[in-house]
Amino acid sequence: MHLDIITCLPRLIESPFSDSILKRAQAKGIVTVNIIDLRQYATSKHRSTDDYAFGGGAGMVMMIEPIDNCISYLKSQRAYDEIIYTSPDGTTLTQSMANELSLKKNIILLCGHYKGVDERVREHLVTREISIGDYVLSGGELAAAVIADAVIRLIPGVLSDETSALSDSFQDGLVAPPVYTRPAEYKSWKVPEVLLSGHQANIEEWRHDQSIERTKKRRPDLLEKP
Ligand code: SAH
Repeated sequence: MHLDIITCLPRLIESPFSDSILKRAQAKGIVTVNIIDLRQYATSKHRSTDDYAFGGGAGMVMMIEPIDNCISYLKSQRAYDEIIYTSPDGTTLTQSMANELSLKKNIILLCGHYKGVDERVREHLVTREISIGDYVLSGGELAAAVIADAVIRLIPGVLSDETSALSDSFQDGLVAPPVYTRPAEYKSWKVPEVLLSGHQANIEEWRHDQSIERTKKRRPDLLEKP
């Protein structure tokens, strides 16, 4: 996968890709992440990427021209499957959306800032808009990092234990069962006996039952979905 992230504040998004799983995914050559400073595509003398809103009101708006210049340049280099704008009124990110995106090859993530982008960017330049939840962030960088993380860890080869993404919450419409590690007893708090039994079939059955019980208790809405 090739991921281009367009932002006017590159430093805000660098660190999530410089550690742990996302760093390893790049080192293994499974994904390339390119963080692009939108200012490079600004045309004005001061390299500004935002301007006052027509009609007045508080807050700046990201201009279409630098964004169009940037996206046009990127499109001249490769064909994109998706050009995604991070937006609080976009479709809410879900695990199944992450699964779908993990199969794509080339993706652009456009981070908004201030009041957001000129509406014409949304009308003419992006293919999809994704929200990470019903709250407002200061910028799209954290949202882009969340989307990228959720997607990249699903690409085969990224996680060392390939089955581990499959047993995560939401992957099968259920939340994950509880997990334990040593010691088997701590301050008289014990690990469930079955997990120490070595009987794999019983363990799998217990985990499945726990998943269902937990989903009923914590996320009954997941069980109502068709
Ligand atoms: N005025 C806008 C919010 C702008 S917030 C509104 O009320 O809808 C600034 C930028 O942060 C947005 O352009 C978007 O890119 C990003 N952002 C904020 N909240 C987000 C969310 N929940 N999901 C994804 N991106 C978000």
